[in-house]
Formats: sequence, structure tokens, C-alpha cells
Amino acid sequence: MIDSARPLVAGNWKMNGSRAMTRDLLASLGTALDDAGGAPCEIVVCPPAPYLADAARALASIPGIGLGAQDCHGAASGAHTGDVAAEMLADLGCRYAIVGHSERRGDHGEDSATVRAKAAAALAAGLGAIVCVGETRADREAGRAEAVVGEQLDASLPDGANAENCVIAYEPVWAIGTGLTPTPAQIGEIHAAIRARLADGVRILYGGSVKPENAAAILAVADVDGALVGGASLDADAFWSICRSCP
Ligand code: PEP
Repeated sequence: MIDSARPLVAGNWKMNGSRAMTRDLLASLGTALDDAGGAPCEIVVCPPAPYLADAARALASIPGIGLGAQDCHGAASGAHTGDVAAEMLADLGCRYAIVGHSERRGDHGEDSATVRAKAAAALAAGLGAIVCVGETRADREAGRAEAVVGEQLDASLPDGANAENCVIAYEPVWAIGTGLTPTPAQIGEIHAAIRARLADGVRILYGGSVKPENAAAILAVADVDGALVGGASLDADAFWSICRSCP
């Protein structure tokens, strides 16, 4: 069960960091949270799998920050060398698993059916699934951004997806790690189209080059319920500034 009433800012560290960085970054966020007297939104960090246990230990004394994983397998257990089951993530204290990130879809050839199985596994383990969708630059230039996102969404969402177990992250592939972002109007168009396909109250995050400088404008767009943050989540000050930009 996740609390869908507040905006969510989730930091996706991707394949970055170390045990020391995990400790230091979470300590800095904890201090910022204490100084502010509480969290301005729901905050989640998604470190690489090897650091989840360290992060869980650090977050035991920082209740305002939740833990998420960057991926999970679609099966509950079994012969899947190198993979991680959703149940293991729940066992470690994770609250969320990101599934269907474009880097997984691209690097590992994951299609929406695979993403759907992963999301279903996350739900079955009691995790919230952060389901990522987004068009490529070619899709957008061909006027197919909304259609592609709609197709991905329909094929990636598991049965029973609702505001208590799922979050959508709209992440245009061309905006990830590039410093490019859609205009607020373009973000609003896609978020409205996603909203129309979802159960009531499901949060829709925007992701793609969110920085302290553009966070307030993006988070103020209608139907934007938070952000999925890559690069800027590796810096405690930058990530905290984005969290504080939630309306
Ligand atoms: C991401 O990969 O989820 C992401 C949004 O990355 P960045 O913020 O670095 O563009």
C-alpha cells in the first residue's frame, strides 16, 4: 500500500555510487529533512541493488525517506541468474520498484509484456510499481508521442493497478540525461492523456533532466504529481532542492 495523497519525488541513482556515497548522501538528506522539520513530499531513493541493504539501514533512522529498487524480475523466484525478485526487495525494506525504465527497455530488450510481468510481481510482493513510459525523439518528431506512450501504458500496466499500488513515470527518452526537457505545455499534454487512461488518483511523475532550476516549473504543470530524478539525485543539495519545489 502506498500513500498517493502527496507528490512523490524519486531519485534513480542508476549504476552510480558506492557504499560511502550511499551513507553520505542519505545522511545529508536526513539532516536537510530534520532542519526543515519534515518532508515536503514523499521522498524515495533508488540506489543500485548492492547498496539497498546499506540504504535500508541508514533509512531506519530517517522515516521521511523511503527506499526503492531500480528493477525486479517478473517471476517470484527460480532459475534467473543475476536477477532480483520483488519479494527479496520487500524483504529488504523497499517500498517501490521502478519497472520499464527506458534504459532497461533499451539495454536489455525489455518489451511492455516483460514490464507488465515485472509490475505484477512488484504488486504481488506488496511493493508499489513505478512504471516508466516515454517516447523517443523519432516518435515525437513523427507526431506519435501520445500514441506511443498510450500503447506502452496499456501494455505495461498489470491487472489491478490503482493509486495504492502503482505510479506512472512519463520519461521522454530524448530528455533523459540530455539536459533537454519538453515544454511545460508538452508535458501537460502527455500527462493529461495518461491521466485519461488511469484509475482515479494514480500519480503521474515526470522524468527527464529535472534539475533544481526547472523543477518548480515542471512540478506546477497540471497532472504532474512528482518527479523521477536521475542525475540530480546523486547530489543531496540538488535532490533536496527538487523535493522542496513540490507545490
Ligand atoms: C531517469 O533516468 O529516470 C532520469 C530521469 O534521468 P535524468 O534525470 O538524469 O534525465
